[in-house]
Amino acid sequence: MSRRGSGLDAIVVGAGVVGAAAALAFARDGMRVALVEPRQPPAWQPLPTDADRIDLRVYAFAPDNAALLDNLGVWREVANARVQPYRAMRVWDAAGGGELAFDADAFGRRELGWIVEHALLVDRLWNALPGAGVQLHCPDSVVGFEQDESGATVVLESGLSLRSKLVVAADGAESKLRSLAGIEAPRHDYGQRGLVAFVESERPHQATCWQRFLPTGPLAFLPFDAHNVSSIVWTLPEAEAQRLLEADETAFLRELDNAFAGTLGASTRVSRRAAFPLRLQLAQSLASGRIAVIGDAAHAVHPLAGQGVNLGLRDVATLRRTAADARERGIDPASRLSRWARAQRSGNALSAYAFDGINRLFSNDSLAATLLRGPLLGLAGKLPPLTHAFWRHAAGQ
Ligand SMILES: Cc1cc2nc3c(=O)[nH]c(=O)nc-3n(C[C@H](O)[C@H](O)[C@H](O)COP(=O)(O)OP(=O)(O)OC[C@H]3O[C@@H](n4cnc5c(N)ncnc54)[C@H](O)[C@@H]3O)c2cc1C
Repeated sequence: MSRRGSGLDAIVVGAGVVGAAAALAFARDGMRVALVEPRQPPAWQPLPTDADRIDLRVYAFAPDNAALLDNLGVWREVANARVQPYRAMRVWDAAGGGELAFDADAFGRRELGWIVEHALLVDRLWNALPGAGVQLHCPDSVVGFEQDESGATVVLESGLSLRSKLVVAADGAESKLRSLAGIEAPRHDYGQRGLVAFVESERPHQATCWQRFLPTGPLAFLPFDAHNVSSIVWTLPEAEAQRLLEADETAFLRELDNAFAGTLGASTRVSRRAAFPLRLQLAQSLASGRIAVIGDAAHAVHPLAGQGVNLGLRDVATLRRTAADARERGIDPASRLSRWARAQRSGNALSAYAFDGINRLFSNDSLAATLLRGPLLGLAGKLPPLTHAFWRHAAGQ
């Protein structure tokens, strides 16, 4: 076995949005960082030559995370390429009742957030890694892990072995490193899938995120281009999702328009479609010795509030402060991890269970739930302090 990188301050495992941002953040703070990832991401293209391979994942990106990327020197690169600001949100229930509405003007802002492509974020974060001095191991993956008083050793499939005082698991919901560290992550499958696609509508999206709750689950239209193309996230029971993936374009658009009640007029075109299984999964602890667990490795949440990647980047921001604080004091970062983990996990658990509760109440056709939903949204919408509190929480303010 060859050994390299014993002079490292941190090893980050997994280079999705969360892991790549963590590695870049540590490197910008002067730490020597190794980043391990099995797959080189495809380069982002503004107009994909192969529409069948376009990455369908987009995120409703919160202002605090745009500020984090700005601080890492990446946000301008992302914003100059393609982001769509959203200035309003409308949430309502198919059974009627009130509406929950958020408008940027009411918060004295130009926008509430931005719709950003996953592939673009990963591309721009990866572009910044070499200049920041991050040691990238790709393609490679973690196969072994050990830790002791003086440090932790990560063994890679290539036979390399890396050593440092801090190891970060950012390798997604199926995290290998989390299992190697013996951290359990009980999972509840919702029996639902999130069907995603790009859809062109007759009328412009008005830079608004629309979400209509149906008994089968929420349907969201997120503004994607400057006019009338939206990215949809449609939560459906497994079998329904499969049926709609296989439906021809005409049948799909007809069912979509029924589900969205023609809110933006008729849907005229749809891209390739894909569906992801939805689950609630929370790691029982976010730290074990020298390991910190972040992103989907720590928490997989329902996409109805668009908070998955936002929560992961908040893990990065707080872990970065913890590591920087330990460095300033000249102490072992591992001595600070359990406090970080407790605070971070309770915030994540609160969000995860809140989204879970909303999903249970709204993806439900029982009479009691149906009678409760519309009035609840209406009441929340009529109480400005409550709408402000919701938004501040979602925006990380
Ligand atoms: C339908 C749907 C819609 C969503 N919409 C939103 C939204 O609107 N807003 C939002 O914020 N979030 C949303 N999410 C959630 C979001 O996609 C995830 O929260 C986010 O991708 C998690 O990022 P991550 O970097 O933690 O994990 P991942 O993106 O899973 O990245 C993990 C990385 O680790 C690598 N890896 C795996 N195994 C190993 C190993 N053994 N060694 C080294 N590396 C490894 C993988 O190759 C991958 O690159 C949505 C999710 C779904 C399913």
